[in-house]
Amino acid sequence: MEADRNTGPPAVASGRTTADRLGRPLQDLRISLLDRCNFRCPYCMPESTFHADYEFLKRSQRLTHEEILTVARVAVGLGVTKLRLTGGEPLLDKQAPDLVAGLADLAGVDDLALTTNGTLLEPVAAALKSAGLKRVTISLDSLDDDVFARMSGGRGSVRQVLNGIAAAERAGISPIKINVVVQRGINDHTVLDLLEYFRGSGHIVRLIEYMDVGNRNGWRMEEVVPSRELLEMIEARWPVTAVGRNYPGEVARRYEYTDGGGEIGFISSVTEPFCGNCSRARLSADGVLYTCLFATRGTDLRTPLRHGVGEAGLAEILERVWLRRSDRYSEQRQPEVAAAQPLSKVEMYRIGG
Ligand code: SAM
Ligand code: SF4
Ligand code: SF4
Repeated sequence: MEADRNTGPPAVASGRTTADRLGRPLQDLRISLLDRCNFRCPYCMPESTFHADYEFLKRSQRLTHEEILTVARVAVGLGVTKLRLTGGEPLLDKQAPDLVAGLADLAGVDDLALTTNGTLLEPVAAALKSAGLKRVTISLDSLDDDVFARMSGGRGSVRQVLNGIAAAERAGISPIKINVVVQRGINDHTVLDLLEYFRGSGHIVRLIEYMDVGNRNGWRMEEVVPSRELLEMIEARWPVTAVGRNYPGEVARRYEYTDGGGEIGFISSVTEPFCGNCSRARLSADGVLYTCLFATRGTDLRTPLRHGVGEAGLAEILERVWLRRSDRYSEQRQPEVAAAQPLSKVEMYRIGG
Protein backbone atom coordinates (compact mmCIF):
# COMPACT_ATOMS: atom_id res chain seq x y z
CA MET A 1 0.00 0.00 0.00
CA GLU A 2 1.38 3.41 -0.92
CA ALA A 3 1.82 6.12 1.66
CA ASP A 4 -0.82 8.85 1.75
CA ARG A 5 0.61 11.77 -0.18
CA ASN A 6 -2.36 14.06 0.43
CA THR A 7 -1.84 16.70 3.05
CA GLY A 8 -3.64 15.83 6.27
CA PRO A 9 -6.64 13.65 5.37
CA PRO A 10 -9.36 13.60 8.00
CA ALA A 11 -8.79 11.18 10.86
CA VAL A 12 -9.42 7.59 9.80
CA ALA A 13 -11.35 5.94 12.57
CA SER A 14 -10.51 2.42 11.39
CA GLY A 15 -6.85 3.39 11.51
CA ARG A 16 -6.45 2.26 7.90
CA THR A 17 -5.54 4.29 4.86
CA THR A 18 -5.86 2.66 1.46
CA ALA A 19 -4.24 4.79 -1.23
CA ASP A 20 -4.41 4.36 -5.01
CA ARG A 21 -1.56 4.55 -7.54
CA LEU A 22 -1.66 8.35 -7.42
CA GLY A 23 -1.54 8.37 -3.61
CA ARG A 24 -5.22 9.27 -3.17
CA PRO A 25 -6.78 7.72 -0.06
CA LEU A 26 -10.12 5.91 -0.18
CA GLN A 27 -12.26 8.16 2.03
CA ASP A 28 -15.73 8.39 0.53
CA LEU A 29 -18.29 5.88 -0.62
CA ARG A 30 -21.31 7.01 -2.64
CA ILE A 31 -24.08 4.49 -2.57
CA SER A 32 -26.69 4.55 -5.30
CA LEU A 33 -29.82 3.10 -3.74
CA LEU A 34 -31.93 2.89 -6.88
CA ASP A 35 -31.49 3.40 -10.59
CA ARG A 36 -35.05 4.72 -10.85
CA CYS A 37 -36.04 8.35 -10.62
CA ASN A 38 -39.28 10.35 -10.60
CA PHE A 39 -37.57 13.05 -12.73
CA ARG A 40 -36.30 12.93 -16.29
CA CYS A 41 -33.65 15.66 -16.23
CA PRO A 42 -32.45 15.78 -19.86
CA TYR A 43 -28.81 16.12 -18.70
CA CYS A 44 -29.08 12.87 -16.71
CA MET A 45 -32.03 10.64 -17.69
CA PRO A 46 -33.53 12.00 -20.91
CA GLU A 47 -37.09 10.83 -21.49
CA SER A 48 -36.18 9.71 -25.01
CA THR A 49 -34.11 6.88 -23.49
CA PHE A 50 -35.76 6.47 -20.11
CA HIS A 51 -39.30 6.11 -21.40
CA ALA A 52 -42.17 4.02 -20.08
CA ASP A 53 -40.71 0.80 -21.56
CA TYR A 54 -37.20 1.30 -20.24
CA GLU A 55 -36.16 -1.68 -18.13
CA PHE A 56 -34.84 -0.58 -14.79
CA LEU A 57 -33.28 -3.02 -12.35
CA LYS A 58 -35.62 -5.52 -10.76
CA ARG A 59 -35.70 -5.64 -6.98
CA SER A 60 -33.79 -8.94 -7.00
CA GLN A 61 -31.01 -7.33 -9.05
CA ARG A 62 -30.55 -4.50 -6.57
CA LEU A 63 -28.42 -4.90 -3.49
CA THR A 64 -30.47 -5.39 -0.36
CA HIS A 65 -29.93 -3.01 2.55
CA GLU A 66 -28.10 -5.81 4.33
CA GLU A 67 -25.72 -6.16 1.37
CA ILE A 68 -25.20 -2.40 1.20
CA LEU A 69 -24.38 -2.37 4.92
CA THR A 70 -21.84 -5.13 4.39
CA VAL A 71 -20.07 -3.22 1.60
CA ALA A 72 -20.14 -0.02 3.66
CA ARG A 73 -18.73 -1.79 6.72
CA VAL A 74 -15.90 -3.25 4.67
CA ALA A 75 -15.19 0.13 3.04
CA VAL A 76 -15.07 1.79 6.47
CA GLY A 77 -12.57 -0.85 7.51
CA LEU A 78 -10.36 0.29 4.61
CA GLY A 79 -10.48 3.95 5.66
CA VAL A 80 -13.79 5.33 4.38
CA THR A 81 -15.24 7.91 6.78
CA LYS A 82 -17.83 9.58 4.55
CA LEU A 83 -20.92 7.91 3.16
CA ARG A 84 -23.53 9.40 0.83
CA LEU A 85 -26.79 7.89 -0.36
CA THR A 86 -27.79 8.89 -3.84
CA GLY A 87 -29.40 7.45 -6.98
CA GLY A 88 -31.49 7.71 -9.19
CA GLU A 89 -33.76 9.17 -6.58
CA PRO A 90 -32.86 7.57 -3.24
CA LEU A 91 -36.09 8.61 -1.53
CA LEU A 92 -38.12 6.40 -3.86
CA ASP A 93 -36.91 3.73 -1.43
CA LYS A 94 -39.40 4.07 1.39
CA GLN A 95 -37.07 2.24 3.76
CA ALA A 96 -34.24 4.75 3.23
CA PRO A 97 -34.41 5.95 6.89
CA ASP A 98 -33.80 2.36 8.09
CA LEU A 99 -30.71 2.11 5.93
CA VAL A 100 -29.52 5.50 7.22
CA ALA A 101 -29.89 4.16 10.77
CA GLY A 102 -27.81 1.09 9.92
CA LEU A 103 -25.09 3.17 8.26
CA ALA A 104 -25.05 5.66 11.15
CA ASP A 105 -24.35 2.76 13.51
CA LEU A 106 -21.11 1.80 11.73
CA ALA A 107 -18.17 2.75 13.91
CA GLY A 108 -15.84 5.05 11.98
CA VAL A 109 -18.42 6.91 9.89
CA ASP A 110 -18.09 10.59 10.65
CA ASP A 111 -20.19 11.94 7.81
CA LEU A 112 -23.45 10.57 6.48
CA ALA A 113 -25.21 12.49 3.74
CA LEU A 114 -27.96 12.16 1.13
CA THR A 115 -28.43 13.70 -2.32
CA THR A 116 -32.03 14.04 -3.45
CA ASN A 117 -34.19 16.00 -5.86
CA GLY A 118 -36.18 17.01 -2.79
CA THR A 119 -39.66 16.14 -4.03
CA LEU A 120 -40.16 13.24 -1.61
CA LEU A 121 -38.25 14.75 1.29
CA GLU A 122 -40.98 16.54 3.21
CA PRO A 123 -42.62 13.49 4.86
CA VAL A 124 -39.33 11.74 5.72
CA ALA A 125 -36.97 14.58 6.70
CA ALA A 126 -37.55 14.14 10.45
CA ALA A 127 -37.18 10.35 10.23
CA LEU A 128 -33.91 10.72 8.31
CA LYS A 129 -32.58 13.13 10.90
CA SER A 130 -33.47 10.88 13.82
CA ALA A 131 -31.95 7.92 11.96
CA GLY A 132 -28.62 9.77 12.00
CA LEU A 133 -28.45 11.65 8.68
CA LYS A 134 -25.96 14.49 9.10
CA ARG A 135 -26.27 16.45 5.86
CA VAL A 136 -28.50 16.74 2.84
CA THR A 137 -27.87 18.02 -0.66
CA ILE A 138 -30.99 19.00 -2.57
CA SER A 139 -30.90 19.55 -6.30
CA LEU A 140 -32.76 22.61 -7.57
CA ASP A 141 -31.74 23.97 -10.96
CA SER A 142 -33.99 27.02 -11.08
CA LEU A 143 -36.73 28.82 -9.16
CA ASP A 144 -38.46 29.72 -12.40
CA ASP A 145 -41.29 27.22 -12.91
CA ASP A 146 -40.83 26.95 -16.68
CA VAL A 147 -37.06 26.58 -16.51
CA PHE A 148 -37.40 24.06 -13.69
CA ALA A 149 -39.86 22.02 -15.76
CA ARG A 150 -37.46 22.03 -18.69
CA MET A 151 -34.62 20.77 -16.49
CA SER A 152 -36.63 18.11 -14.67
CA GLY A 153 -38.21 16.69 -17.81
CA GLY A 154 -41.58 18.13 -16.78
CA ARG A 155 -41.66 16.31 -13.44
CA GLY A 156 -42.11 17.74 -9.95
CA SER A 157 -42.33 21.41 -9.07
CA VAL A 158 -40.30 24.18 -7.50
CA ARG A 159 -42.84 24.29 -4.68
CA GLN A 160 -42.33 20.60 -3.80
CA VAL A 161 -38.56 21.06 -3.65
CA LEU A 162 -38.85 24.20 -1.50
CA ASN A 163 -41.19 22.29 0.82
CA GLY A 164 -38.57 19.56 1.04
CA ILE A 165 -35.90 22.13 1.92
CA ALA A 166 -38.16 23.67 4.58
CA ALA A 167 -38.83 20.23 6.08
CA ALA A 168 -35.09 19.50 6.25
CA GLU A 169 -34.61 22.84 8.02
CA ARG A 170 -37.37 22.07 10.52
CA ALA A 171 -35.86 18.65 11.15
CA GLY A 172 -32.57 20.36 12.02
CA ILE A 173 -30.51 18.81 9.20
CA SER A 174 -27.60 21.18 8.71
CA PRO A 175 -25.89 22.21 6.56
CA ILE A 176 -28.25 22.02 3.62
CA LYS A 177 -26.60 22.29 0.22
CA ILE A 178 -28.47 23.22 -2.94
CA ASN A 179 -27.02 21.71 -6.15
CA VAL A 180 -27.58 23.66 -9.36
CA VAL A 181 -26.41 22.23 -12.68
CA VAL A 182 -25.88 25.21 -14.96
CA GLN A 183 -26.55 24.82 -18.68
CA ARG A 184 -25.93 27.67 -21.07
CA GLY A 185 -29.07 29.03 -22.66
CA ILE A 186 -31.28 26.93 -20.38
CA ASN A 187 -30.98 28.08 -16.77
CA ASP A 188 -27.92 30.35 -16.63
CA HIS A 189 -30.12 33.47 -16.73
CA THR A 190 -31.89 32.34 -13.52
CA VAL A 191 -28.78 31.68 -11.40
CA LEU A 192 -28.62 35.15 -9.79
CA ASP A 193 -32.28 34.98 -8.74
CA LEU A 194 -31.66 31.60 -7.15
CA LEU A 195 -28.60 32.89 -5.30
CA GLU A 196 -30.53 35.92 -4.11
CA TYR A 197 -33.30 33.70 -2.77
CA PHE A 198 -30.91 31.61 -0.67
CA ARG A 199 -28.67 34.47 0.51
CA GLY A 200 -28.91 34.73 4.27
CA SER A 201 -30.67 31.35 4.60
CA GLY A 202 -27.57 29.52 5.83
CA HIS A 203 -27.88 27.07 2.92
CA ILE A 204 -24.93 26.66 0.57
CA VAL A 205 -25.70 26.92 -3.13
CA ARG A 206 -23.28 24.95 -5.32
CA LEU A 207 -23.06 25.77 -9.00
CA ILE A 208 -22.08 22.70 -11.00
CA GLU A 209 -20.63 22.71 -14.48
CA TYR A 210 -22.67 20.54 -16.83
CA MET A 211 -20.61 17.38 -17.25
CA ASP A 212 -20.20 14.81 -19.99
CA VAL A 213 -21.20 11.94 -17.75
CA GLY A 214 -22.67 8.92 -19.50
CA ASN A 215 -23.58 8.82 -23.19
CA ARG A 216 -27.23 9.73 -23.25
CA ASN A 217 -27.33 13.48 -22.60
CA GLY A 218 -25.83 14.69 -25.89
CA TRP A 219 -23.29 16.80 -23.97
CA ARG A 220 -21.68 19.69 -25.81
CA MET A 221 -18.94 21.96 -24.49
CA GLU A 222 -20.92 24.99 -25.69
CA GLU A 223 -23.55 24.23 -23.05
CA VAL A 224 -21.02 24.36 -20.21
CA VAL A 225 -20.89 27.68 -18.38
CA PRO A 226 -17.37 27.87 -16.91
CA SER A 227 -17.38 28.65 -13.18
CA ARG A 228 -15.07 31.59 -13.89
CA GLU A 229 -17.79 33.20 -16.00
CA LEU A 230 -20.41 32.64 -13.30
CA LEU A 231 -18.09 34.07 -10.67
CA GLU A 232 -17.64 37.23 -12.72
CA MET A 233 -21.40 37.55 -13.08
CA ILE A 234 -21.87 37.08 -9.33
CA GLU A 235 -19.08 39.52 -8.42
CA ALA A 236 -20.75 42.19 -10.54
CA ARG A 237 -23.75 41.94 -8.20
CA TRP A 238 -22.29 41.01 -4.78
CA PRO A 239 -18.66 41.16 -3.60
CA VAL A 240 -17.37 37.70 -2.67
CA THR A 241 -14.10 36.37 -1.29
CA ALA A 242 -12.51 32.97 -1.76
CA VAL A 243 -12.31 30.75 1.32
CA GLY A 244 -10.21 27.62 1.75
CA ARG A 245 -11.26 23.99 1.57
CA ASN A 246 -12.99 22.48 4.60
CA TYR A 247 -11.03 19.26 4.09
CA PRO A 248 -8.69 17.76 1.49
CA GLY A 249 -10.72 16.11 -1.24
CA GLU A 250 -13.53 18.69 -1.07
CA VAL A 251 -14.54 19.21 -4.67
CA ALA A 252 -16.21 22.61 -4.40
CA ARG A 253 -14.24 25.83 -4.52
CA ARG A 254 -15.80 27.98 -1.84
CA TYR A 255 -16.63 31.69 -1.79
CA GLU A 256 -18.38 33.84 0.79
CA TYR A 257 -20.39 36.99 0.26
CA THR A 258 -18.40 39.73 1.96
CA ASP A 259 -21.59 41.17 3.47
CA GLY A 260 -22.16 37.96 5.45
CA GLY A 261 -24.84 36.59 3.08
CA GLY A 262 -23.36 33.10 3.25
CA GLU A 263 -21.42 30.70 1.08
CA ILE A 264 -21.42 29.65 -2.58
CA GLY A 265 -19.55 26.65 -3.98
CA PHE A 266 -18.36 26.00 -7.52
CA ILE A 267 -17.91 22.50 -8.85
CA SER A 268 -15.82 22.96 -11.96
CA SER A 269 -15.18 19.44 -13.08
CA VAL A 270 -14.90 20.47 -16.74
CA THR A 271 -12.83 23.66 -16.66
CA GLU A 272 -10.84 23.12 -13.44
CA PRO A 273 -10.65 19.39 -12.73
CA PHE A 274 -9.83 18.16 -9.26
CA CYS A 275 -8.78 14.55 -9.87
CA GLY A 276 -5.66 15.02 -7.74
CA ASN A 277 -7.83 15.02 -4.60
CA CYS A 278 -10.46 12.51 -5.66
CA SER A 279 -11.03 10.06 -2.84
CA ARG A 280 -14.42 8.63 -3.90
CA ALA A 281 -15.63 5.18 -4.74
CA ARG A 282 -19.12 4.67 -6.10
CA LEU A 283 -21.43 1.71 -5.68
CA SER A 284 -24.28 1.24 -8.15
CA ALA A 285 -27.68 -0.09 -7.10
CA ASP A 286 -26.80 -3.50 -8.59
CA GLY A 287 -23.56 -3.68 -6.67
CA VAL A 288 -20.94 -2.59 -9.19
CA LEU A 289 -18.06 -0.62 -7.70
CA TYR A 290 -16.75 2.28 -9.82
CA THR A 291 -13.65 4.32 -9.07
CA CYS A 292 -14.49 7.27 -11.34
CA LEU A 293 -17.62 9.14 -12.37
CA PHE A 294 -16.56 8.61 -15.98
CA ALA A 295 -15.60 4.96 -15.66
CA THR A 296 -16.20 2.65 -18.59
CA ARG A 297 -16.25 -0.43 -16.36
CA GLY A 298 -16.56 -1.38 -12.73
CA THR A 299 -16.16 -4.37 -10.43
CA ASP A 300 -19.12 -6.58 -9.63
CA LEU A 301 -19.49 -7.03 -5.88
CA ARG A 302 -22.99 -8.55 -5.95
CA THR A 303 -21.91 -11.92 -7.30
CA PRO A 304 -19.21 -12.49 -4.65
CA LEU A 305 -21.58 -11.15 -1.98
CA ARG A 306 -24.27 -13.63 -3.00
CA HIS A 307 -21.75 -16.46 -3.18
CA GLY A 308 -20.69 -16.03 0.42
CA VAL A 309 -17.41 -14.22 -0.08
CA GLY A 310 -17.46 -12.93 3.50
CA GLU A 311 -16.20 -9.58 4.72
CA ALA A 312 -12.50 -10.46 4.58
CA GLY A 313 -12.84 -11.60 0.96
CA LEU A 314 -14.81 -8.50 0.07
CA ALA A 315 -12.18 -6.31 1.72
CA GLU A 316 -9.54 -7.95 -0.46
CA ILE A 317 -11.54 -7.17 -3.60
CA LEU A 318 -12.13 -3.54 -2.62
CA GLU A 319 -8.53 -3.03 -1.63
CA ARG A 320 -7.26 -4.56 -4.87
CA VAL A 321 -9.54 -2.31 -6.92
CA TRP A 322 -8.48 0.84 -5.08
CA LEU A 323 -4.76 0.03 -5.07
CA ARG A 324 -4.70 -0.28 -8.86
CA ARG A 325 -6.81 2.84 -9.43
CA SER A 326 -5.28 5.57 -11.59
CA ASP A 327 -8.41 7.37 -12.91
CA ARG A 328 -8.11 11.04 -13.78
CA TYR A 329 -10.63 11.44 -16.57
CA SER A 330 -11.41 15.12 -16.04
CA GLU A 331 -7.75 16.08 -16.15
CA GLN A 332 -7.31 14.17 -19.40
CA ARG A 333 -10.61 15.10 -21.04
CA GLN A 334 -10.46 16.74 -24.44
CA PRO A 335 -13.85 18.38 -24.88
CA GLU A 336 -13.91 18.02 -28.69
CA VAL A 337 -13.16 14.31 -28.38
CA ALA A 338 -15.59 13.84 -25.48
CA ALA A 339 -18.41 15.27 -27.58
CA ALA A 340 -17.50 13.62 -30.90
CA GLN A 341 -16.39 10.12 -29.87
CA PRO A 342 -17.96 9.41 -26.51
CA LEU A 343 -16.54 6.50 -24.54
CA SER A 344 -19.03 3.97 -23.29
CA LYS A 345 -19.28 5.53 -19.83
CA VAL A 346 -21.41 4.64 -16.85
CA GLU A 347 -24.56 6.77 -16.62
CA MET A 348 -24.93 9.31 -13.80
CA TYR A 349 -28.28 7.90 -12.64
CA ARG A 350 -26.47 4.59 -11.88
CA ILE A 351 -23.81 6.10 -9.66
CA GLY A 352 -25.37 9.29 -8.43
CA GLY A 353 -22.83 12.05 -9.02
N1 SAM B 1 -31.75 12.31 -7.95
C1 SAM B 1 -30.93 12.93 -6.99
C2 SAM B 1 -30.69 14.39 -7.32
O1 SAM B 1 -30.95 14.79 -8.46
O2 SAM B 1 -30.23 15.09 -6.43
C3 SAM B 1 -29.61 12.23 -6.76
C4 SAM B 1 -28.88 11.68 -7.96
S1 SAM B 1 -28.30 12.90 -9.13
C5 SAM B 1 -27.55 11.90 -10.34
C6 SAM B 1 -26.96 13.64 -8.24
C7 SAM B 1 -26.49 14.99 -8.74
O3 SAM B 1 -25.92 14.83 -10.01
C8 SAM B 1 -27.60 16.02 -8.89
O4 SAM B 1 -27.30 17.18 -8.16
C9 SAM B 1 -27.61 16.29 -10.37
O5 SAM B 1 -27.98 17.59 -10.66
C10 SAM B 1 -26.19 15.99 -10.77
N2 SAM B 1 -26.04 15.69 -12.20
C11 SAM B 1 -26.71 14.79 -12.93
N3 SAM B 1 -26.28 14.80 -14.21
C12 SAM B 1 -25.33 15.76 -14.30
C13 SAM B 1 -24.50 16.26 -15.35
N4 SAM B 1 -24.59 15.80 -16.60
N5 SAM B 1 -23.61 17.23 -15.05
C14 SAM B 1 -23.51 17.72 -13.80
N6 SAM B 1 -24.25 17.28 -12.76
C15 SAM B 1 -25.16 16.33 -13.01
FE1 SF4 C 1 -33.19 12.00 -11.39
FE2 SF4 C 1 -31.30 13.29 -10.10
FE3 SF4 C 1 -30.84 12.36 -12.56
FE4 SF4 C 1 -32.48 14.40 -12.27
S1 SF4 C 1 -30.32 14.38 -11.76
S2 SF4 C 1 -32.87 12.55 -13.50
S3 SF4 C 1 -33.43 13.96 -10.31
S4 SF4 C 1 -31.21 11.14 -10.79
FE1 SF4 D 1 -12.54 11.67 -9.58
FE2 SF4 D 1 -12.85 10.65 -12.01
FE3 SF4 D 1 -13.97 13.00 -11.37
FE4 SF4 D 1 -11.32 12.82 -11.68
S1 SF4 D 1 -12.85 12.51 -13.25
S2 SF4 D 1 -12.43 13.87 -10.02
S3 SF4 D 1 -10.95 10.75 -10.88
S4 SF4 D 1 -14.47 11.01 -10.46
